[in-house]
Amino acid sequence: MSILALTQQEYSEEMPKGKRHAALLYRQWMRTGHVDTSWAEPQARALVQEMIDKTDFSLPPITGQKKEGETIKFLLRMKDGLETETVAIPMKAGITLCLSSQLGCRMGCTFCETGRMGLLRSLTPEEIVAQVFVARHVLKIPVRNLVFMGMGEPLDNLESVLLALKVLTDPRGLGIGPRHITISTSGHVDGIYQLIARADPALHLAVSVNAPSDEIRRKIMPVNARWNMEALKKAMLDYCAEGSREILIEYVLLENINDGLEHANLLAVYLSGLSVKVNLIPYNSQSRSRFSPPKIEIQEAFMQQMRKHGYQVLLRHHKGREIMAACGQLGNISQRRLLLNSRNS
Ligand code: SF4
Repeated sequence: MSILALTQQEYSEEMPKGKRHAALLYRQWMRTGHVDTSWAEPQARALVQEMIDKTDFSLPPITGQKKEGETIKFLLRMKDGLETETVAIPMKAGITLCLSSQLGCRMGCTFCETGRMGLLRSLTPEEIVAQVFVARHVLKIPVRNLVFMGMGEPLDNLESVLLALKVLTDPRGLGIGPRHITISTSGHVDGIYQLIARADPALHLAVSVNAPSDEIRRKIMPVNARWNMEALKKAMLDYCAEGSREILIEYVLLENINDGLEHANLLAVYLSGLSVKVNLIPYNSQSRSRFSPPKIEIQEAFMQQMRKHGYQVLLRHHKGREIMAACGQLGNISQRRLLLNSRNS
């Protein structure tokens, strides 16, 4: 078992002897990315070495790295040869790390590069934690916030995501406060109820709504056939009712699809009664784009219309578009070929 998939308590339980040393080792590894045994008394050193030997400290190698300004995208190669993609984005409140929860995604959103890959497989808790660990301790990026907005639908890999959250938020390890973590979903209603029941209430939820009506949403987000907008609204109302929480609504603006003032009016009605902030994301072009972003005047008119309805709205600026690291651009179709080859060999 790799230490990356363990909380401090679980790690200590793996080590029935020397719990105090185990706790120190765990803390040092998680906080600095290396382990130094020189501090141990000679008789304790053998014990410390035994602990290290018993636990796998290896990390996935970085196989690619691109930069655009302060935005960094990096790839990690997993044991089966497939690669995760993770993006570090500078924000006002510090650096946000955009994590992948799956390799590819089966939700099939038509405006998303990852959706075109299909689902190759879900990531393990360890592979999710490794993205944070490598960013902080290998690339030395001072990560402050985490968002599950990279490849994959996190609520379609709920058990691994919940376990990863336990490790990431463990105060005796990486110690990232739940308030600094956002889970983003395409509208996985069952998953939202699981989060209400099982996740730390301080975690933030973001929902990709992207359309003001079922008619439009079902054309761009197949998930709408499973959970329509009414079911999604009910889940969001229930989420907000629990501890008066606020939801971040994501809305990708697609030219001539969902960007008109009439769409803004319908969206405002749909969101009424919810405690939300709205994030407008002009569509980012991809390798074979079917869509275009609206002109800037149209984007701003949409934002103003939502504000007239009393919503707090942000128009998100592109970050990482040139290195295919912006929203909806992650993913690499060649990974599917790699997986098929490895299965056939
Ligand atoms: S937008 Fe999110 S849920 Fe939709 S296909 Fe892309 S990664 Fe999956």
